[in-house]
Amino acid sequence: MSHGLLLAPALVVGVAHGEWDGPANGDRLSNVQVIKDGALAWGDGVVTWAGPAGDLPPEVGDVRQATRVKGAILPGFVDCHTHVPFFGWRANEFEARLAGLTYRDLHGGGGIYRSARLLAGASDEEVMRFCRPLVDEMLAHGTTAIELKTGYGLSVEAELRQARLARRLAREVSQTASVTLLACHAVPEGRTREAWVDEVCHELIPRAAAEGLADAVDVYVEDIAFTVADLARVAETARANGLAVRCHADQLGHSGAAEAAVGAGSRSADHLNHIGPAGIEALAGNDQTVAVLLPVSTLFLRAEPPPVADMLTAGVAVALATDFNPGTSPCLSVPEVIAVAASLYRLPTLTAIGAATFNAAWVLGLQERLGSLTLGKRADFVVLDTPDPAMIAYRPGHNPVLETWIGGQRVSSRGPWTD
Ligand SMILES: [Zn+2]
Repeated sequence: MSHGLLLAPALVVGVAHGEWDGPANGDRLSNVQVIKDGALAWGDGVVTWAGPAGDLPPEVGDVRQATRVKGAILPGFVDCHTHVPFFGWRANEFEARLAGLTYRDLHGGGGIYRSARLLAGASDEEVMRFCRPLVDEMLAHGTTAIELKTGYGLSVEAELRQARLARRLAREVSQTASVTLLACHAVPEGRTREAWVDEVCHELIPRAAAEGLADAVDVYVEDIAFTVADLARVAETARANGLAVRCHADQLGHSGAAEAAVGAGSRSADHLNHIGPAGIEALAGNDQTVAVLLPVSTLFLRAEPPPVADMLTAGVAVALATDFNPGTSPCLSVPEVIAVAASLYRLPTLTAIGAATFNAAWVLGLQERLGSLTLGKRADFVVLDTPDPAMIAYRPGHNPVLETWIGGQRVSSRGPWTD
């Protein structure tokens, strides 16, 4: 089994567990612990010690025999919002937007419908061959746990197929992966919204749950998609089938989805570009629904940034994720997301690290095992090429992750990591 001991010039333990439950907000999130000259030890793939090297108990290890790495050690990134598995890119839609069209303009013929056609036209093996290298690339950028979503099926059978592909991908890659059924992503062509929500609730969710294909159900609430009433109904069905709830909320316009997500017991409200004061108040006043910020899609769509400063001041727990998808965020790098969040949302780096680790794990219900380097959690961590975590935000376009480890095993490396 895997045992090890590393010394690092800086050890970012992550969000400290305290006398509280739920995701981290306020000081709990911003006071991410950084230990200068830290030591990280693990046994059987689980953290047995994380603290100052000078305090390492002799029974845990001998610092003289430990490997000293040259960069900071951080908890592995948890990407709690992606649209993998998908098939094919949509670069020409991006070019069309550069020429003046909007995402709404493209929604009918392109967008989600186009990704659904591309997925339908590919064999299972083609989809796996397309997705596996992407998930490996995520590993090289430090992502040790991911969310996978459906939503490019747009029929009961095609959604079930995409969920099975997601489960298969989860088995074949190194990361921990959780699967979300985003059946309510777009209204299938030739159907009414009501009829599709009926079918999702009566047939798709029960079948996906019975086959063990999903961990959560997500609803895209938007004027071009679904309503807050649909969210409430799908959430009730999800819960009745033992599944968690997620929500794409207030991205393209204000719909009151953030407060509806809190009301529906959702684990997250994602995007939030157009959240209003009531949404901020609802998110701040609960310890269950996390605000998942997706700054690269904001940049990519040139959208209005959400009022992040107001959210943080109010005490909203925030997570950060890539929203990796071929339409609105073809970026799979969490370090890049942290860099964009810094410049676009003014999110300090340590807050961003807590948001992309502990709170993101909370969104996926994995916070007991993952999301910080605390005693008893799995030894999922990254080694940077710099002792200073602030370099992540400072150098967009640069991958600062030298090594990625999962369960105390090295799973990705790109160069010398010791002096
Ligand atoms: Zn999304």
